Amino acid sequence: MSTQQIVESTSLKRDYYHLIINGEKVESSNGATIKTYNPATGELVAEVAKATKEDAERAVLAAREAFDHGKWRKYPINRRSQVLNNIASIMRSRFKELVELEILDTGKSLDTAKGQVSQAIEDFEFYAGAIVGHRGTVNNMPGQFHNYTEKEPVGVCAQIIPWNYPIMMAAWKIAPAIAVGCSVIVKPASLTPLTAIILGEICLEAGVPAGVVNIVPGSGAEVGDYLVQHPKVNKVAFTGSTPIGKDIMGKASETLKRVTLELGGKSPNLVFEDADLDASVDGSLYGIFYNSGQSCEARSRLYVHEDIYDEFIQKFVEKTKKLVLGNPFDKGTHVGAIIDQGQVDVIDGYVKSAIADGAEILAGGKPAAVKGFEGGYWYEPTVIANVNHEMKVVQEEIFGPVVVVMKFKDEKEAIKLANDTEFGLGSAIWTKDGARATRVANEIQAGIVMVNCPFSAMPGTPFGGYKQSGFGRELCIETLDLYTETKSIVSYYGSRPLNPMGL
Ligand code: NAD
Ligand code: MN
Repeated sequence: MSTQQIVESTSLKRDYYHLIINGEKVESSNGATIKTYNPATGELVAEVAKATKEDAERAVLAAREAFDHGKWRKYPINRRSQVLNNIASIMRSRFKELVELEILDTGKSLDTAKGQVSQAIEDFEFYAGAIVGHRGTVNNMPGQFHNYTEKEPVGVCAQIIPWNYPIMMAAWKIAPAIAVGCSVIVKPASLTPLTAIILGEICLEAGVPAGVVNIVPGSGAEVGDYLVQHPKVNKVAFTGSTPIGKDIMGKASETLKRVTLELGGKSPNLVFEDADLDASVDGSLYGIFYNSGQSCEARSRLYVHEDIYDEFIQKFVEKTKKLVLGNPFDKGTHVGAIIDQGQVDVIDGYVKSAIADGAEILAGGKPAAVKGFEGGYWYEPTVIANVNHEMKVVQEEIFGPVVVVMKFKDEKEAIKLANDTEFGLGSAIWTKDGARATRVANEIQAGIVMVNCPFSAMPGTPFGGYKQSGFGRELCIETLDLYTETKSIVSYYGSRPLNPMGL
């Protein structure tokens, strides 16, 4: 089936999508729209109402009202849990359409989109369960005092998300926040707003009351910034680039909002001499080329022990060249499109800078020509060798299908190179020596360490960074704490009245 036929057969595909504010599908205040394109073909997918500051204000007031005077946070936990399960089952019933819509909006390959929609569903199921066990504590106190804590929802949350995993990022944000009783205003990326809007509609259908989930696609600099500075917003949860994260943290400090940041990365992938060669080659390929390299935890720095370097790299490059770029809806496609021309230019700029610095291109190295998809945005899976650690291509996040490969001579050097970065999100270790895996895992400064494993993001598993990759953990139980305040209640139960002033 061609992408055009799929566009026509997807039931969630419309020509126009609304904002969701206070339980209603609405136009933007000035009628402005965003056009969203299919990155695989360059074709228009749909127009979307583009939120303005006035719309953001309406959304904040709706979220505030729902939180301050609404019923959602007062529901028994079981009832909120049930609504989260309803959201998941409606998503499941529209699985195929959600996958197709996500592919149309992002150009990602079928398997990639399927996995991400599945995970978004599981996130709601996970938090439907997790919330039931989320509770305060009873603490030992001296004398006749009693202390317990309550976990109270933090309030109105602005949730700003990027374009690389639209539905998954929306689920990571919405599910834990509403599970604890917060209200949210989600600002999807302008390039990929469609599945977040549909998810907002599904929340309403599933029984989330009006105002609890609001979706306002619009400009980051306008709507995102407005939400970050709004005095009636209690928390900002942001996933995106490190510079914008820093800007948000500064601005949110004005009103001392709670902030969690999931930012960029430049994650190391360490292959030791005793690693299973095939498993480490395949896992390393996936680690960088999954989602066309547009992943915050992409293992974009590949370090291989000198004893196996030649053999490993030969296999790695051979397989890189076999990766199929093509119709994202085809099962056989490994690598999908790049989000837009701007991102292709960014990627190509990095590759050109590496060449100018004297690096060697072992595979790829330029925008890809994909037959039948000439109007789209594509980049060849690229392997760069002969680099040094000061090069931009080694230190900066590229956010594309580009990996740099380097040698190391021992464990100590591997750790030193792995940590020589301002980021600290993901990392991977390939070795059959369990003691070494533990030693290296302990030394790596990153929020995630994958041992003989290419996957890290699964519901229940903490996801987040060290250093300039941000702070806060998503996708796990701990996330619930980050959407709550702890209230400590101290009481006295002695029979003699207290007389602290001694009068
Ligand atoms: P981006 O920072 O440009 O944009 C992210 C979001 O922030 C978008 O919705 C954007 O509109 C909004 N925004 C932009 N300027 C803003 C401002 N001044 N105030 C408030 N909001 C603003 O990032 P992107 O290009 O969409 O996404 C790619 C980046 O996201 C990469 O750096 C990647 O590493 C990071 N990322 C991190 C994770 C993680 O979990 N750590 C996951 C996915 C992506
Ligand atoms: Mn799009």
